[in-house]
Amino acid sequence: MALDRLTQQLAAAFSDRRIFLVGGSLRDRMLGRATHDLDLATDARPDEIRRRVAPWADAVWTVGEKFGTIGLLKYGVKAEITTFRRDAYDGESRHPEVTFGDDILADLQRRDFTINALAENLHTGELLDPFDGRADLQRRLVRFVGEPKLRIAEDPLRMLRAVRFCAQLGFSLEPESGAAIARGAGELARISWERIRDELDGILLSERPADGLRLLIDLSLARHVMPELLDLRLPQPERHHLKDVLDHTLDAVSFTPPDKALRYAALLHDIAKPETFTRDERGIHFYRHEELGAEKARAILARLRQPAALIEQVIRLIRHHLRIPFYSSEWSLSAVRRLMYDLGDQLDNAIALAEADVKASDPSDWPEFQARLAELRSRIAEVGEAAELAHMKPLLNGNEVMDLLNIPPGPRVGEVLRFLLDRQIAGEITTREQAVEAVKREFKG
Ligand code: ATP
Ligand code: MG
Repeated sequence: MALDRLTQQLAAAFSDRRIFLVGGSLRDRMLGRATHDLDLATDARPDEIRRRVAPWADAVWTVGEKFGTIGLLKYGVKAEITTFRRDAYDGESRHPEVTFGDDILADLQRRDFTINALAENLHTGELLDPFDGRADLQRRLVRFVGEPKLRIAEDPLRMLRAVRFCAQLGFSLEPESGAAIARGAGELARISWERIRDELDGILLSERPADGLRLLIDLSLARHVMPELLDLRLPQPERHHLKDVLDHTLDAVSFTPPDKALRYAALLHDIAKPETFTRDERGIHFYRHEELGAEKARAILARLRQPAALIEQVIRLIRHHLRIPFYSSEWSLSAVRRLMYDLGDQLDNAIALAEADVKASDPSDWPEFQARLAELRSRIAEVGEAAELAHMKPLLNGNEVMDLLNIPPGPRVGEVLRFLLDRQIAGEITTREQAVEAVKREFKG
């Protein structure tokens, strides 16, 4: 297969150099998990790596050259080859100074966890395992290489990486490593939001996102990553009395397929329940938590430096997250069309979110909800033009409206355009002629 062919080719290209398979690709292969990319370490310096692979690789990239890394593509497989490194940390700024080394053992020593600090000699097949990483793979433990407190001080992001590997691999934290993280959690304040975001994305998209989130909370990391989660320890309405809002939220996340917008929406769909909580003789309510939640989610995701397009998708899902659970047969076809317009390209995600939300609330509602959802699905299919509806625009533009009604630019134009779009979404107006007619009828005189 492609991975083996590339490995052989690399061994040949570096026949008079030392070269090792390292990092995630070796770890995942030893776990019997699918690996897509190769990580390699060599004593060759970056410019030499480049010279050795350029003649035969399909693509070569050098953006990481300063840090010792050359990337390449061959047989559809990506490989990153990095010169052995040794870190020298000055105790003051704690910023690592990366220097190149000649020693694979020193290179492994600067890696974060024992399961990531294995190396396989590409020439001999010999496995180097100076920190007992293989035993930790068997025990399914994430354990720092060296003194946990020191390794956290060097780079506090490692605390989040530890949680991510637990969530991705289904591993536990080795107790001493876990205790050091709980004590050092505050050091996350030194880490950029961009780096935090990438690890949180990894946790959310992992196989066990709820376990990862629970770890973040238990280790006090959530206090820095997303303190809003801690306020979700609130009672739910009577029916759901088994779980608080936080447990419900984590269940909802775990019931969603691994799509980024969907998982963030599940995580944040009830985020405004704390501030909308009211109680009266009829019970507990969270009026308009979906609207306030969408705005809160916007602020949280912007803080995490998430891309604008993702933020829009997530808040769309949150703002409308109650509509599908409350679908009923009495809805008109134009109400179904309105739902499709409002959700746009997030319609499928919204259905998945509704399923997760119901499943995570009261499982006894599930059969009845499934029946209603099947009906909604068939009505959506009946409408058909989902993509068209998602991108629907008024059939007339502002100039045409002004000409038609002989009015100047102003708020009235917007009002007419909104009216038009509304009728189009409802399916009452489908042609330009009908649009002209309707505008004249409604607004002329
Ligand atoms: P993934 O499957 O997510 O890519 P990975 O283990 O390959 O997992 P990377 O972030 O790609 O993780 O890093 C590659 C290797 O570099 C790691 O296995 C680890 O040995 C080392 N490494 C990465 N980040 C750090 C860090 N912050 N501190 C120490 N070592 C690190
Ligand atoms: Mg990797």
